Amino acid sequence: MMAGTPILVLREGAEREKGKGAVGNNIAAARAIADAVRSTLGPRGMDKMLVDSMGDVTITNDGVTILKEVDVEHPAAKMLVEVAKTQDQQCGDGTTTAVVLSGELLKRAESLIDQNIHPTVISRGFSLALAEADRLLRKEIGTPVRPDDDEILSEVAQTAMGSKGVFGSRAELAKLAVKAVKTIAEKHENRTVADISLIQVEKKFGGGIADTQLVEGLILDKERGHPRMPTEVKDAKIALLNSSLEIKKTEFESKINIKAPGQLQGFLDQEDRTFREMVDAVKASGANVVISQKGIDDVVLHYLARAGIYAVKQVKESDMQKLSRATGGKVVTGYKELSSSDLGRAGAVEQRKIGDSHMTFVTGCKGARSVSILIRGGTEHVTQEVERSLNDALKVVASVLEDGVICPGGGATEMELAVRLRKFARTVGGREQLAVEAYAQALEVVPWALAENAGYDAVNTLIGLRQAHEGNLPTKNAGINFSAQGKPADMFQLKVVEPLRVKTQALSSATEVASMVLRIDDVIASKKSAPPASPPGGHSH
Ligand code: ADP
Ligand code: MG
Repeated sequence: MMAGTPILVLREGAEREKGKGAVGNNIAAARAIADAVRSTLGPRGMDKMLVDSMGDVTITNDGVTILKEVDVEHPAAKMLVEVAKTQDQQCGDGTTTAVVLSGELLKRAESLIDQNIHPTVISRGFSLALAEADRLLRKEIGTPVRPDDDEILSEVAQTAMGSKGVFGSRAELAKLAVKAVKTIAEKHENRTVADISLIQVEKKFGGGIADTQLVEGLILDKERGHPRMPTEVKDAKIALLNSSLEIKKTEFESKINIKAPGQLQGFLDQEDRTFREMVDAVKASGANVVISQKGIDDVVLHYLARAGIYAVKQVKESDMQKLSRATGGKVVTGYKELSSSDLGRAGAVEQRKIGDSHMTFVTGCKGARSVSILIRGGTEHVTQEVERSLNDALKVVASVLEDGVICPGGGATEMELAVRLRKFARTVGGREQLAVEAYAQALEVVPWALAENAGYDAVNTLIGLRQAHEGNLPTKNAGINFSAQGKPADMFQLKVVEPLRVKTQALSSATEVASMVLRIDDVIASKKSAPPASPPGGHSH
């Protein structure tokens, strides 16, 4: 990635910019994005209300949600949006932090450029600082966590949800998240792998957030296909199909070409025979539940109901895969291939009434451990915000289980890094030293914005915090205490803790994008509408 100087290619109509002017403009565009989300940082951050072109409203404090919804045109600004997306994918949290840090690094770089320090030198200094920061995070600032320490895992989840609109229900949601992640976590030799895509999340509005529940099994947002089917099947033997139990319209029409009376009846009889054949195939396999990714004809549903079989149609492909894993059943293409060995097993398949609608619950699964979370909430906006928060919670818990290390929040980690990087800068020397110092300074934007967003005097808060980290009795876990007007406090005691990965990823993405923007010194308007230079961050893992 470091080879050569990237050239940004703009769409037709844009002016060509070169050298310092180009860097300045790119920095300005990127900083505009950072400034847009900065006021949402932290538990005291403001919510943003987004209205899209269809008039749909999202109210959120989630950095990545905001950036996903905003139409960003400028290529340098787009890179920052990519940073947020990468952070979200990798960590589920820290998106605003990553973007704000990127903006601040660029701001500090700009003043170095004004002092005639070449962008390449700044870039080099920044990567030295990043390498040292990464080392410090892993070796000095991070604290190991035992995988069975549910208390800490829950604190991590609660911190991640702290600034979302689910504040009052954080403790319960955190517990659910920890339990869900631990159910799917697997030990591979001496490593833990927690693939949270195995956790199914469904939402149904109605009820309150407190009704959100964990289900040891799977939930399908589908009711049974026919009112005369049983509402519950115990000791379920489940046929999983990814083809339809229907006769395709086109097939039928191309055949129907009636010349003689009686022929129509013949066709109808033939159709009925096919339907019965389908049901017979299901029965012959021994299945008492059919779950199909595709459609099931009403007549087939009727026959299945008569046979006492519970059927659900048009189930999402991702759910079919989860069903297959959880029940040990094989997804079969074509009912004719169905055999008893393909069937999945579950303790029960049943229809339950949730709010105003019916859902299908598959529980007591014999296959791999499976778990679902059913989100409830008064309105659709609430269930959406709960889903976003829960997603973050699941990801941070998973990353702490996998990495086994946490860092203090509330600006403590960033302040400690800033203090130590300033010391490190002296060992670097040359002009790069200035860049390392600028990097250290930039990190302080995190506690700064946290203080500012809470309405505190940011200068005084920062002075207090810096003293806590540099004073006679240095406390490396000191961060901003929102219960005491921003006075420094031990973040481990306040249970404000974050995964190591949130910190390392935010720093590496921010540094990468800053260096990228700094190295663009030529912006050419292209004749054809060529795509902009490939964004950073997206391919680093
Ligand atoms: P991001 O998108 O970066 O996660 P947030 O709005 O979630 O942005 O804010 C995260 C920041 O808020 C982190 O620095 C985190 O340590 C801090 N934070 C969260 N909860 C608290 C708290 N209770 N006290 C102090 N700082 C907190
Ligand atoms: Mg957060």
